[in-house]
Amino acid sequence: MSIAFGIYRLQQTDIQIEQVENRLAQIRQTLENDAEARQANSRLAETKENWHKAEQRLRQYEAEAESQRLKIEQHEASLYGGTVQNPKELQDLQNEIAALKRQLAALEDKQLQAMLECEEAEREYASAQAAREVTLARLGAQNKGLNDELVSLERDLQRLYAERQAITTAMPANLLTQYENLRQSRHGRALATVSDNSCDACGTTLTAAIQQAARSPAQIAFCPTCGRILYAG
Ligand SMILES: [Zn+2]
Repeated sequence: MSIAFGIYRLQQTDIQIEQVENRLAQIRQTLENDAEARQANSRLAETKENWHKAEQRLRQYEAEAESQRLKIEQHEASLYGGTVQNPKELQDLQNEIAALKRQLAALEDKQLQAMLECEEAEREYASAQAAREVTLARLGAQNKGLNDELVSLERDLQRLYAERQAITTAMPANLLTQYENLRQSRHGRALATVSDNSCDACGTTLTAAIQQAARSPAQIAFCPTCGRILYAG
């Protein structure tokens, strides 16, 4: 195995490790992020609260209308009971009953409105409940798939680490340091491939001598422009 080929394999392994690590980070974040479930829960709580308030309003109007009817009954009992004889008092009573009945009609309108609002609030609660179930079921299925992928990627990562270990063990320490330094300063790519007589990282045309050196099993050639290690596969 030529020196450059060893570095080439190392870089290929590092690129794969990076991809697997990125995907793992993405999956872990998704599994931890239960924003959708939280949103579905808060929507359910909100609609339940609205329904509860609408019901309270309805009960309140019902109670008010009931007490209004009672008052009307009492006034009518006085009117027709024969205890009140004075025509002026009887007229006052009749006027008051008429006023109470108008108030009752207004209350019954409010009661009807509150009943409609209550039914609407109940429908919204039921729809939030159904939506929440769908969301939780979907998240559950999605997370099951992600958990399986996580386990499989963690195995891949162990294998890649072992491969990397095997490659670097066979590599001179100073070369490894050089590789790591170039990797840091060259956006993760320490090595470039010679392709069409050029460096495939920066596009510089390479002289025959440099290409010759890149092909040599015992030598290391560098791109004169970007400074990367060259590999002629
Ligand atoms: Zn280059």
